[in-house]
Amino acid sequence: MKCRHCHEPLQHVFLDLGFAPPSNAYLSAADLLAPELYFPLKLFVCHRCWLVQTEDYAQADELFRADYAYFSSISQSWLEHAARYVRMISARLALGKDSLVMEVAANDGYLLKNFVGAGIPCLGIEPTAGTADAAESLGIPTLREFFGTRLAQYLAAQGKRADLIIGNNVYAHVPDINDFTAGLKAALKDSGTITLEFPHLMRLLENTQFDTVYHEHFSYLSLYTVSRIFAEAGLRVWDVEELPTHGGSLRIYGCHAEDERNTTAAVANLLEEEDQAGLRDPETYRAFQPRADRVKDDLLAFLIAQKRAGKSVAAYGAAAKGNTLLNYAGIKPDLLPYVCDAAPSKQGKFLPGSHVPILPPAVLKERRPDIVLILPWNIADEVKGQHGYIRDWGGEFAVAVPKLVVSSATHEGDEQS
Ligand SMILES: [Zn+2]
Repeated sequence: MKCRHCHEPLQHVFLDLGFAPPSNAYLSAADLLAPELYFPLKLFVCHRCWLVQTEDYAQADELFRADYAYFSSISQSWLEHAARYVRMISARLALGKDSLVMEVAANDGYLLKNFVGAGIPCLGIEPTAGTADAAESLGIPTLREFFGTRLAQYLAAQGKRADLIIGNNVYAHVPDINDFTAGLKAALKDSGTITLEFPHLMRLLENTQFDTVYHEHFSYLSLYTVSRIFAEAGLRVWDVEELPTHGGSLRIYGCHAEDERNTTAAVANLLEEEDQAGLRDPETYRAFQPRADRVKDDLLAFLIAQKRAGKSVAAYGAAAKGNTLLNYAGIKPDLLPYVCDAAPSKQGKFLPGSHVPILPPAVLKERRPDIVLILPWNIADEVKGQHGYIRDWGGEFAVAVPKLVVSSATHEGDEQS
């Protein structure tokens, strides 16, 4: 296999998580009677451009099924993050009624609705029908398409180039990152700005976030590699911010290479920090698998100990990262009988691979589990804040990544991300 960006033959396996089903392939009761499709889940790192990437195995269309269940608006803290961003960027770029804002992977309109509210024209691009319908019901014009060079050129030919193109948690999920980036270039006005948010590879490495690896997450990105990909496409990263979201993300600001804006010192500083953290050293990547294995082993030992001690365990949050962790660890309902999730679209279904049933959060109060294992650790404080009542019966929360921590419930739920 060759690097998806620079086409160098890939030699270095970074992480091998065995075989797993697509992390968003939630199953119905009827699906449990049918065979389940598993793909290898392996990451390579390119020793030339340092792009960390999944092994090739299947087409994106097979993974993003039409009934993909994720609606961004379910997470209150994510809604607040989006609203804050819209206020900041509207002021910073002086956006108004003559501007055009595009969001790629606009989901259910969780972000663009803020531009609609401010009278700033916008266009959502979202291939998933259910979420696109939800966005349109909020008055957001939505194209039901995958974004890439072809669509961008079509939009440009219609006179629709954007003052601002937003991509939140989509850049790492596109199979052809070069084509996507060329599309950003084609759909951007001469003086336009691109902002992309994606989990920062440096934080994945630092905090052993191996459970953020799944098939649909094709690329694991550093500022260094994104700067290279942008430069190749005639774009330039001119500013960067570090965000607490998803365990540590970057928000990069892009423009055309020839744009007059100067590149800020933040870019050079973070490139230096990445270098110091060993992001261009093969040894950094070689040392990671044993760290991931330790997290997996510790969780398995903990769940077995709870079962032997007669304690009841539940999980909270039917998120993609939970599926990676449970499938890598081989955890099934005998160790983890159910998971609660607030999304009605997931309730009544089963996690892919592990077949753990997904139930509404109200079940916690009925069954009073001794331990609630929070799978999406990035919203652990939010979950603890909302479900602090489990301490009424002596319940405790557990989080497995970056290391196993068991703590009493608390009602304090700040530091949301
Ligand atoms: Zn490469």
